[in-house]
Amino acid sequence: MNRELPVLAIVIPCYNEEEALPITTARLLELIDKMITSSLISRDSYILCSNDGSRDNTWNVINHLHKKDSRIKGISLAHNRGHQYALLAGLMAVKDRCDVSVSIDADLQDDPDAIIQMVKDYRSGMDIVYGVRSSRTTDTWFKRTSAHAFYSFQRKMGLDTIYDHADYRLMDNNALRLLSEYGESNLFLRGIVPSIGLKSSVVKYARSERVAGESKYPLGKMISLSIDGITSFSAKPMRLIFVTGLILLLLDLLVALYVLISYFNHATISGWSSLMLSVWFLGSLILMGLGIVGEYIGKIFIEVKHRPRYAVAEELF
Ligand code: UDP
Ligand code: MG
Repeated sequence: MNRELPVLAIVIPCYNEEEALPITTARLLELIDKMITSSLISRDSYILCSNDGSRDNTWNVINHLHKKDSRIKGISLAHNRGHQYALLAGLMAVKDRCDVSVSIDADLQDDPDAIIQMVKDYRSGMDIVYGVRSSRTTDTWFKRTSAHAFYSFQRKMGLDTIYDHADYRLMDNNALRLLSEYGESNLFLRGIVPSIGLKSSVVKYARSERVAGESKYPLGKMISLSIDGITSFSAKPMRLIFVTGLILLLLDLLVALYVLISYFNHATISGWSSLMLSVWFLGSLILMGLGIVGEYIGKIFIEVKHRPRYAVAEELF
């Protein structure tokens, strides 16, 4: 690892980004040149576009950009696997070909200039640097509110992530090597990366608008990312079943009291009291039992999914 003059690889997951990519790569090349001039990074630094099975012209655009400037490289996934997988595929492709990587979205909503500070942090010894949004004024009200709901729901469900950090981050060689050892299929990088450990810092930046195209993260994808995150990092939903059973068991005592009073007041028809008592008692026992079984199933579920996480169809190096 070269902390003095590192080879920097900027990794961009791209899904239907034909409009944004030419602008984004030009802007990033400019930034790379600037950092080379100020002796922050090596001349061999480059950009890697990870095409996530786009349905539009994205891969052609990447080929074209590669021809114009070979510092723009690309890989293409065989089908659309989602942002997290496209990003992982990109990071794994640069793992042995750089000293340090920075992942950034194709739309430049995350201020690229923050990369300079990230690299400086890396040079002063950090292995992972998280980009954290200092404001979200340019996002729509809906995007802002849903994103905040998303973070606080995750936290309540027992998943710890870095607040307002998306996937804009610097990871050095070492962090990438450790990341490559996670074999899980339910990929939620914002949960995995903090759990890797290593020395880390935070760089704040203002979030701006997309340079071109529209959001590829509608509410549906956000919810499924959230569920993926929670179910691969937390057994809390399962625990909630157990807790519900326990609460019902306590309520059962009150119900039993009510049933017995009714019974001794001769206000019941025959069979009602015994049925009521057993339904409540058995119901809560069954829920608690399910909760316990759920705890184990949750763990097994996470352990056994050793599927390949992505299939790289083509490479441009
Ligand atoms: N993306 C991807 N695969 C997908 C959806 C999105 O690779 O299935 C990429 C997209 O090209 C972009 C990044 O993930 O580079 C973030 O997406 P977007 O900017 O649309 O999300 P938002 O900023 O609206 O949350
Ligand atoms: Mg975006």
